[in-house]
Amino acid sequence: MIQRADFATEDGEYTMDLFQNFNVSNLESGSPVRGLMRKPDFQRETNHWTPAQVTTFIASFLDNELIPSLILWKSSSYIFVIDGGHRLSALRAWIEDDYGDGAISQVFYGGEISDDQKRLAKRTRAMVEARIGRFSKLKSIVGSTNSGSELDLKRAHLLFTRGLNLQWVQGTASVAETSFFKINSQGTPLDDTEELLLRNRKKPIAVGARAILRAGGGHKYWSSFSADAQKSVEAAARQLFEVLFDPEVSQPIKTLDLPLGGSVSPLDALSLLIEFLSIADSTQTLTKGIAGYDDDPDGSTTVAVLQNALSVAKRITGNSNGSLGLHPAVYFYNERGKHSRFLFLGMVLLISRKIKDNDGGFFGKFVLARERMEKFLIENKSLIGILLQNMSKQTRVSKMRDLYSFLIENFADNKTVKVEEAIEHLGARGRILDITTAANNTVFSDETKSALFVKRALDSAIKCNICHGLLDPAKSVSYDHVTPVREGGTGDVSNGDLVHPYCNQSVKC
Ligand SMILES: [Zn+2]
Repeated sequence: MIQRADFATEDGEYTMDLFQNFNVSNLESGSPVRGLMRKPDFQRETNHWTPAQVTTFIASFLDNELIPSLILWKSSSYIFVIDGGHRLSALRAWIEDDYGDGAISQVFYGGEISDDQKRLAKRTRAMVEARIGRFSKLKSIVGSTNSGSELDLKRAHLLFTRGLNLQWVQGTASVAETSFFKINSQGTPLDDTEELLLRNRKKPIAVGARAILRAGGGHKYWSSFSADAQKSVEAAARQLFEVLFDPEVSQPIKTLDLPLGGSVSPLDALSLLIEFLSIADSTQTLTKGIAGYDDDPDGSTTVAVLQNALSVAKRITGNSNGSLGLHPAVYFYNERGKHSRFLFLGMVLLISRKIKDNDGGFFGKFVLARERMEKFLIENKSLIGILLQNMSKQTRVSKMRDLYSFLIENFADNKTVKVEEAIEHLGARGRILDITTAANNTVFSDETKSALFVKRALDSAIKCNICHGLLDPAKSVSYDHVTPVREGGTGDVSNGDLVHPYCNQSVKC
């Protein structure tokens, strides 16, 4: 709710006589102070406040309860919020009646507001209105003595007279930045992902991940790039958003049209994106990770990172020629319909290395192995999940890649694969029992409902008539002429079939 600005280019300005109290009218539209206010560009991406926290905060403001000081820093052109961003945003949301779904948010998110965010906004609004009422209503009775309940009049009286206590950070931009990290590592701690993003915010992976999360809209962390680089970043981010997070999924699952990257809730999605971009950009031997890059002043590395991610994504899904059209329910979700980042990233690692190696033969083997590999994955998903959980986080992605690779090599060679042999690639030896505890209550949980749906829907899903792997026609399908056009084949239903794009362009002929 407060605009961002690039903090590092600002000079600090120390003035003796800065205002010492912050009045709520400073947040109303048209206020000059509001016009000056900015969040530092490293301010948190995500909003951790729940509807209840927002409501409680506004109520404590109006009921004259103690509120910690806001901490601000004045540069030569703006006022930056160092601490108190959530508090000010909560008040602003209330003043504007925009909890993430209103006119200001529509513009900020470029019209792309997720259903999750809309639901949360609706809940927050309902809670605030039940406990406090609208800002405009309280404002309209300011100065009156009899046109509201006793509580409303008391709150209205305080609304514009209360001043929030302020502290000013004095010094340069780097002093202000240090204060920010100190303050935010106490109190509500920064999540690991947030801290990783903030500390590396000028690096290609961080800029790229944030761009994708907002489908190329939202705050332009890339605004210092050249005009061409900006356009490329936005276009690639929009495409990657669609590939990874469309359509939104709701529980229990009732469709197999699942997003490849799982939920778009900011923290999950950002941490997945950081790994996805690093892996897709890795060389044969080295995955640099977010901190391994240099800052990217002109955008060239960010554009390259996003392009590499797109070329991997286009092998996994979509309608372009090389697309395997992998079915997310088979490859990226567990048997209960929950997204698994390790299944997903393991495949991303495998495919990105094969692209870098220019290993065209690999994709041919994939097609040969596909039907039996998919059967294996579906039958052993819960076992794979248990084994992944029991190994260290750092090794899960590469072990999963090894398992995929083993399955492809062996099934392509027509070999029989024993479960015990395969799971050795996940670090397990001997016979493993898949112990899934049976539910002992009578109600079907959402998880059980999703599991039932996934099982039944996969049983009857359409298969590609070339490789006999499952098709995900919503995202990836090719319409195949059974008798090729050059041999007189027509465009009639009787001569058509649904196949994977890769199968259509490479295997036939
Ligand atoms: Zn196929």
